[in-house]
Amino acid sequence: MLSPVIRRRDLLLLGGGHAHALALRMLAMRPVEGLRITLVSPASHTPYSGMLPGLIAGHYRFEDTHIDLARLCQWADVRFVTAEATGVDALRRRVHLAGRPSLGYDLLSIDIGSQPELDSVPGARAFAIPVKPVAQLWSRWLALASELADGRPRRIAVVGGGAGSVELVLAMAHRLRDAPVTLYLICGTPELLPGYRPAARRAVARALAQAGVTAYCGARVSTVERDRIELDDGRELAQDALFWCTAAAPVPWLQESGLATDARGFLAVDDTLRVEGEAAIFAAGDVATQTRHPRPKAGVYAVRQAPVLAHNLRAQLLGRPLRQHRPQRRFLSLLSLGERRAVADRGLLTASGAWVWRWKDRIDRRFMARFSDLPEAMPTTTPERLPEAQPRAQAFCGGCGAKVGGSALGNALARLRRDYPEHCPAEADDAVAMPLPASGRQVQSLDLLRGLVEDPWLMGRLAALHALSDLHACGARPLSALAALTLPFASPDLQERELEQLLAGALHEFAAADCKLLGGHSLQGHELALGFAVQGEPMAVDGHLLPKRGLVAGDRLILCKPLGTGTLFAAHMQARADGRDIAAALESMLLSNASAARLAVAAGVSAATDITGFGLAGHLREMLLPGQSASLDLAALPVLPGALHCLENGILSTAQADNEVLAELPPGADSTRRQLLCDPQTCGGLLLGAPPAAADDLLRQLQDEGYRQAAVIGEVCSDEESAGAGDTRLRLRAEVDDRWETEAGRQAPGRA
Ligand SMILES: Cc1cc2nc3c(=O)[nH]c(=O)nc-3n(C[C@H](O)[C@H](O)[C@H](O)COP(=O)(O)OP(=O)(O)OC[C@H]3O[C@@H](n4cnc5c(N)ncnc54)[C@H](O)[C@@H]3O)c2cc1C
Repeated sequence: MLSPVIRRRDLLLLGGGHAHALALRMLAMRPVEGLRITLVSPASHTPYSGMLPGLIAGHYRFEDTHIDLARLCQWADVRFVTAEATGVDALRRRVHLAGRPSLGYDLLSIDIGSQPELDSVPGARAFAIPVKPVAQLWSRWLALASELADGRPRRIAVVGGGAGSVELVLAMAHRLRDAPVTLYLICGTPELLPGYRPAARRAVARALAQAGVTAYCGARVSTVERDRIELDDGRELAQDALFWCTAAAPVPWLQESGLATDARGFLAVDDTLRVEGEAAIFAAGDVATQTRHPRPKAGVYAVRQAPVLAHNLRAQLLGRPLRQHRPQRRFLSLLSLGERRAVADRGLLTASGAWVWRWKDRIDRRFMARFSDLPEAMPTTTPERLPEAQPRAQAFCGGCGAKVGGSALGNALARLRRDYPEHCPAEADDAVAMPLPASGRQVQSLDLLRGLVEDPWLMGRLAALHALSDLHACGARPLSALAALTLPFASPDLQERELEQLLAGALHEFAAADCKLLGGHSLQGHELALGFAVQGEPMAVDGHLLPKRGLVAGDRLILCKPLGTGTLFAAHMQARADGRDIAAALESMLLSNASAARLAVAAGVSAATDITGFGLAGHLREMLLPGQSASLDLAALPVLPGALHCLENGILSTAQADNEVLAELPPGADSTRRQLLCDPQTCGGLLLGAPPAAADDLLRQLQDEGYRQAAVIGEVCSDEESAGAGDTRLRLRAEVDDRWETEAGRQAPGRA
């Protein structure tokens, strides 16, 4: 048997800026054996600043201008964690995250960029739209663009006098060239573009004049109100939208974390890009200032730092000498002028025109191709090994010798008990005595998942929700859970971190469901698996449960959540899914079925199940009684974004083929939506059979409760022809108005 790779160190990349995206790609091409890399970013996509004005101007699509970090990480075998950092504890080597437990690291690199400074001008934070974070800028811009459709005249002001603000206002002018919009540019310095050659400034001034943009130079904004701004020379300007693109500022928590900073609060790094005074923290991009070679904040410097950063992170881990980075003094600046024209400025050279824009466009597209056209196969290099990662002399034991080490388990549980005292009580005995529920009926179930997402906290949440869903499908309220866990082979430190994240994720969901995690068993193995045996009691006061096989002819079939997780995660595994689609799928998967179950019990539904591994068709067949059929409206099926696209491209879950056999779909008249019926779901929604009189109300309540895509997808029919025939085939009549009918008459497979 192959000896397993044992992960021994955690490299945490905080922020998916230009420097990290490139460094990550370089680290993936020359992997270090035993290293676990995690990237933390608030969103799956990060913008490439050079193309942002082109996005606003309408020359590019969102996908052309944003790096899909989730996909890049999947390709690079890097864990992607969607979260926003709020602090660093350098002493304990932990990064604090908003709304979820902190993450431990051995080596940290920070590339979280900068944001325009808003707090020195009263009213700016409340009323201005900062250009960063770009995700927010983009959504506010889209909202503004749709408001403009009413044709009313508007005044839009952009504050700032550097390259970013000039490009932005020209891009807006180009995009809104046919709209009744007045555009201002307000620049605190006497001239626009300080540091640029006069010829470049003249070209920009001409472009602004041609686009009808009025520039106010030498005046700083002193106050911002909802619909007007005041300048420090006493002038006032009315505005309907104000974009803030002033000098870059760091996030305040960097200083609060006690890390070395420059006078403005940016991280102070030496020429190796290591934060001064910190052995295990590096930083690059706007967030860092090389104190011996300070430079303006620009993406071009972040890009140039990437190879040195990647080299030094590897060197630090492998115990090799670090390289020094000497940033260039000047760089080629290519400013787009709204329409497909640009100006180039470097040293003694200035040029402008359409050819400069084409040149810039080629450079920018080549940069982005590094992230969109990822090589299918990695180069075959022998990975280097961490110094502490010597091959093991002895194979891993089985039986009880495969347990996770006592200290990793003990430390992780001690912290979890502190955070969740009620729902993770102290260990009592070898086994737990449970009081019987008042109703006298106990409901039990067990569910187990292989690793689906790389983020262990999310994985813990999904595994808990998946297990709880079986109780919810029966109309039961969870009471307690026991964990069954296999942790991948790793050093005790890494296992402790992994265990804590997984169980913290699970406890997040168990606490929300008021369910106690009473114990469990954990092993080491080749790959992660996490599941829970759960126990509950009926939600209904009279103790009745929702049967799986209780449908009545005429019942409306309500599906509570959209379909498509199987195909989407199959695409994700192949680094072919869009990170935004995966984020949307996860959002849907993380919506607990608890409220749907509560509403279903109150509405008196006749049957319920949750859609999981057998797909909608397989689970619907389980519900049907002999002689019943279900008529489904394919067009009414709620679908996750991107799922149909994946199916159309032939990306199927490995369980799809078995599910199709189970569903017995007849040949011909195939369609993507029919494949969707056999797509296995993880954390899928409840499928409910509601009496016709109750269905509309129930659907509305479900939608109000957050199941926004809940839909009536068909109805139950009695089928005289098949009654008692023992026929188990599904009959599809898709060619008739996109509707099909299923007919079942055999013992259905057990609940998945
Ligand atoms: C309109 C505009 C046009 C520009 N054009 C150019 C140009 O043409 N050329 C040029 O050189 N520069 C340009 N710039 C400047 C450029 O955007 C920045 O210098 C560059 O983006 C800095 O890159 P970075 O790697 O430091 O971080 P960024 O690219 O800013 O990325 C930071 C990343 O960190 C993430 N992040 C932020 N906070 C957190 C947190 N708390 N936790 C986790 N992750 C976090 C963000 O979501 C983002 O993904 C432009 C700026 C603007 C506004």
